[in-house]
Amino acid sequence: MKMKKLTALLLASLMAVSMAACGDTPASGDGTGSSDASGSSSESSSDASGSSEESGSDASDSSEESGTGASDGSEESGTDAADGSEETSGSDGSSDASGQAEGFTTAVEGKLTMATNAAFPPYEYVEGGQVAGIDAEIADAIADKLGLELQIDDMEFDSITEALKGGKADIGLAGMTITPDRQEEVDFTVSYTTGVQVIIVTEDSDITSADDLLAEGANHTVGVQRNTTGDIYTTKDIEDAGLGTIDRYSKGAEAVQALKTGKVDCVVIDNEPAKAFVAEVEGLKILDTEYITEEYAAAMSKDNPALYEAVNNALMELIADGTVQSIIDKYITAE
Ligand code: GLN
Repeated sequence: MKMKKLTALLLASLMAVSMAACGDTPASGDGTGSSDASGSSSESSSDASGSSEESGSDASDSSEESGTGASDGSEESGTDAADGSEETSGSDGSSDASGQAEGFTTAVEGKLTMATNAAFPPYEYVEGGQVAGIDAEIADAIADKLGLELQIDDMEFDSITEALKGGKADIGLAGMTITPDRQEEVDFTVSYTTGVQVIIVTEDSDITSADDLLAEGANHTVGVQRNTTGDIYTTKDIEDAGLGTIDRYSKGAEAVQALKTGKVDCVVIDNEPAKAFVAEVEGLKILDTEYITEEYAAAMSKDNPALYEAVNNALMELIADGTVQSIIDKYITAE
């Protein structure tokens, strides 16, 4: 703790010096700079998602704002928030992630509001009327470090970015992949895990690999969850290339049902939810060949650099001390 504080102060003063020297504005919003501190690989994300850039056309219908609203409307005024956290250490917006954070504001005072789409097990799903899962637990640990109470708002996946941009939510945690197009809209924290896009088919399918979908003359109907990377990649690689049609569903499970009933020939979706969905539906399997590997991170507004720093630092600490891995291990057993 002491060390971290010292380092933070040192960094802050270094920044102040260099800013004074070059008379520049602080690069506080840039967000990506600190990624290597945790040893995690957020930097590699840009190539992981390399195939998706530009296609962003479908990102546009993302503004159904209304979403489904807060899952738990429990508005008890989080009084315990930020208690004892008033200790000041430099007012330059740099914050120590260990509860002494200051200088940031959140959507609701005293709370860390997480926007998610709780239909993505094991990262987020509804259990007993509550949103549970890896992302919910990570967010809870971050909120703890910042002296905030976690509140989770469940909404459509493609409403999350708008909720962040509009300041209605502080952090988007939804198994969300870092992509170049999304980076135009929001800042991503360091990556906390990798995801893999896989292909689900029926057991008797003649599709045996990703190559079959991309082969000359291919003409498959591919089910995806709307505006996810599965949608983005396949739209570009398959639909735009004249190799088939993409059917977009608002939930991954609906795409999987469409596969079961023969409306689509396969589903391209993230590996872990794929496993959960396939376990529930007879006669489906996941192909061994992966479509693409990608990096998951929390998305945040570009307009709240102080909160970004605090959250990103907290997440880096939680990665470094093994908390994130132990949360993931609770839900995903190594194969
Ligand atoms: N990882 C995918 C994406 O970011 C899917 C996320 C999700 O459906 N929650 O687009």
